[in-house]
Amino acid sequence: MIPGGVNSPVRAFAAVGGDPPFVARGEGCEIVDADGHRYLDLVGSWGPLILGHADNAVLGAAMTAASRGSSFGAPTELEIELAEEIVSRVPSVDKVRLCSSGTEATMHALRLARAVTGRDLVIKLEGCYHGAHDAMLVRAGSGVATFSDGRATTEPGSPGVPAAVAALTLVAPFNDADAVEDLLRRHKKDVAALILEPVAGNMGTVAPLSGWLERLRELCDRYGTLLVFDEVMTGFRLAKGGAQERYGVRPDLTCLGKVVGGGYPLAAFGGGRDLMDRLAPLGPVYQAGTLSGNPVAVAAGLATLRQLDDDAYARLESIGARVEAVLAPAAAYHGCSLARVGSMFTLFFRAKTPVRFADVLECDLAAFARFFRAALNEGVYLPPSQFEAAFLSVKLTDDQVATIADSLASALVAALVD
Ligand code: PMP
Repeated sequence: MIPGGVNSPVRAFAAVGGDPPFVARGEGCEIVDADGHRYLDLVGSWGPLILGHADNAVLGAAMTAASRGSSFGAPTELEIELAEEIVSRVPSVDKVRLCSSGTEATMHALRLARAVTGRDLVIKLEGCYHGAHDAMLVRAGSGVATFSDGRATTEPGSPGVPAAVAALTLVAPFNDADAVEDLLRRHKKDVAALILEPVAGNMGTVAPLSGWLERLRELCDRYGTLLVFDEVMTGFRLAKGGAQERYGVRPDLTCLGKVVGGGYPLAAFGGGRDLMDRLAPLGPVYQAGTLSGNPVAVAAGLATLRQLDDDAYARLESIGARVEAVLAPAAAYHGCSLARVGSMFTLFFRAKTPVRFADVLECDLAAFARFFRAALNEGVYLPPSQFEAAFLSVKLTDDQVATIADSLASALVAALVD
């Protein structure tokens, strides 16, 4: 009754073989499936669960909010508190609008960028994923790449996306400023926005090369194009203020999701006051949502962000470093590579760490599938695709961190001798 048995394609095991476990419950950093198997969870609902499952404070906040009513379609006080929390953390955001999914956040941010600039074209980067709306299903990562049948390298990335819509989306390789400059020069005064994941997670973890984000900022300023950071994955994960704090580059618009809702359906987009005040009802740019700023999700998001202090980010960094210390040498020994930024990491079945999508496409996907299955046998639940990042939680105990590192190192060996 459910196409492929899943309500989002990335949950299927089509790329790695077998059927996904049906999850019965989560406890801390583990999930337990319907057959009673326990796994250390490195998917974390694809990013939101930085505090693990059913964190006490998050659960309490959500239950209190739900007991007062699930949704009003009218403003509530906690929305102001969450907006204050976001604005105080994210360097480039003066004002923020809440919505329900990352897809909505990028869709609305791009509409705003087009409205403000009066331009139609947008540039996205190969292998980045910004949600499942038409304009962004062009050379996209994540599930589009995983199930691509070659579509990952063509445009549009899905049947049903009109060619005329896809033609408004220009693409350049990740980490290639010259290619972006070339597009901006060729389409002078026509490019509304450049949207990217400042650290890519949707083609596996791919870090920005030194100086690249700064160069994109300069190029956007020079050509009057708005720089949009899609921090749905990196926001509140890589630093208190996201990748823009970590790398010291300020975008014009920022998209947020995942961690901001603490595992509940919540996302956001924000930016400078001048831009955000163009949204209805202050301005003419229409954007709306029945469940936007849902009180239960807002309470959960707030209870999540309030636990993410400097100590939490220091702990995430040290957990990531410990996993890397074991896995990176093992990967190198076996002709693979480990990419890690903070609490996001990917083991690539390719000797050199990828810097762009074309590099990731060279990975040995059959070996990844064997690695994934061996890890699952060891009790570690990874994202079931080479084109995804694994996520570490701040709540992992020292023993769990050691188990993850050792189990993945064993799974690597099993994948390569198979
Ligand atoms: N942008 C990025 C960077 C993402 O990783 C995702 C989801 N993985 C999205 C947008 C879309 O978010 P959602 O699935 O909540 O629509």
